[in-house]
Amino acid sequence: MAAPKTCPVCGVKILVGMVGGDRVLFSAGPPGTRARLYARVCRYVEKPGCINRDGGSQKASPNDYYKPDAPR
Ligand SMILES: [Zn+2]
Repeated sequence: MAAPKTCPVCGVKILVGMVGGDRVLFSAGPPGTRARLYARVCRYVEKPGCINRDGGSQKASPNDYYKPDAPR
C-alpha cells in the first residue's frame, strides 16, 4: 500500500512505494514523477526541509520542465 508523503516546503504529495516508481500528486494536472516535481519546483527551493531535493532516481524528460514561452 502506497503511503503519501507531503513535502512541507513544496506542499506537494508524493506517493512512495508505487509500482514503477514514486508518484507525485500535483495541485493541478495529472500525477507525475519525482523528477518532474524536481524540475518544476524543488530545484528552485533552497530550503533543507524539501523531501525531493535529489529528484528521486527517475530521469526528467524535456516535457517535465516548464516552458514559459509555450503557446496557450
Ligand atoms: Zn519539495
